[in-house]
Amino acid sequence: MTVTTQALQTSRIAILGYGSQGRAHALNLRDSGLDVVVGLRPGGPTSAKATADGFVVATPEDAVKSADLVAVLTPDMVQPKLYEEVIAPNLKAGAALLFAHGFNVHFKTIAPRGDIDVILVAPKGPGYLVRTEFEIGRGVPCLYAVYQDTTGEAEERATAYAAGLGGARALLIETDFKEETETDLFGEQAVLCGGASELVQKGFETLVEAGYRPEIAYYEVLHELKLIVDLLYQGGITKMLSFVSETAQYGDYVSGPRVVDAATKERMKAILKEIQDGTFARNWTEEYKAGLPNYRRMKQADLDHPIEKVGAQLRAKMVWLNEA
Ligand code: NAD
Ligand code: MG
Repeated sequence: MTVTTQALQTSRIAILGYGSQGRAHALNLRDSGLDVVVGLRPGGPTSAKATADGFVVATPEDAVKSADLVAVLTPDMVQPKLYEEVIAPNLKAGAALLFAHGFNVHFKTIAPRGDIDVILVAPKGPGYLVRTEFEIGRGVPCLYAVYQDTTGEAEERATAYAAGLGGARALLIETDFKEETETDLFGEQAVLCGGASELVQKGFETLVEAGYRPEIAYYEVLHELKLIVDLLYQGGITKMLSFVSETAQYGDYVSGPRVVDAATKERMKAILKEIQDGTFARNWTEEYKAGLPNYRRMKQADLDHPIEKVGAQLRAKMVWLNEA
């Protein structure tokens, strides 16, 4: 059965937040023929952008009042307050509340009203890809889930929204809030953001401390990572292995498992456990409420790492990088 936007054809959709996901969702849904209003704080940082894109921008309160579906696309940490102050008092009974990440619902920092549908549509890609794939007639795969179905139409609404994003042109996969939240957090911590950036920094440090020039080290451990990741993305480890030399393959087999070994996997399991038992969510919420002192310090350390300095100099000479 083809999934269409049918279930939302007569619905008004309010998009709250106009950042990475919010802008892409608003534009794609509108281009799919749906009725979209963007809810933003007056004079907020992205309100001019939404207006320039031709949207009617309302206050979050007015957008929620008029909506049959509200997509919460603000940063995760501001969602509980937004729900409490703006969404809960204004949302119509029977409306749908949609998230792109299950964090607050799963960890119960938002307790949704009992008379609404609560659904999730999480594109497996950043906002700019959700938009550019849509524009060329394709789409980014989407996960979808139902947490609460009071109307009997929650699933149809979720899949219709995903179809409006272009996700149905690629792939829709059903999940639940727990699975989406825990796997998403684990992936970004252990492999994608945390694991990959730490691997790059440690590789760079190893070469530079051994006396090799930072420029050469930068190309080896950061720049060329893209070539490898593109091969993984297109055809998995099979394709990557078929494109690198025999020498590179042999080195992979004998050295890879020494860098990331059984002890690393044990630590990955510990990280997963802290995600599952709520420790990570509690720590992150406390850090946010305390004004992000540790977050800022650790971020500054990443920004001050020597690879960032040489990287900026080299990237300035690779003009094609800035044309995207
Ligand atoms: P973002 O930081 O890019 O954009 C957030 C938007 O919310 C901005 O328009 C900002 O001005 C607005 N905003 C901030 N505080 C606000 C407030 N108090 N009231 C109203 N608006 C406010 O966020 P994002 O990365 O698009 O993330 C949005 C949601 O999508 C999150 O739940 C995130 O987990 C999820 N998600 C993001 C990605 C991604 O690639 N970035 C992918 C999948 C899911
Ligand atoms: Mg790091």
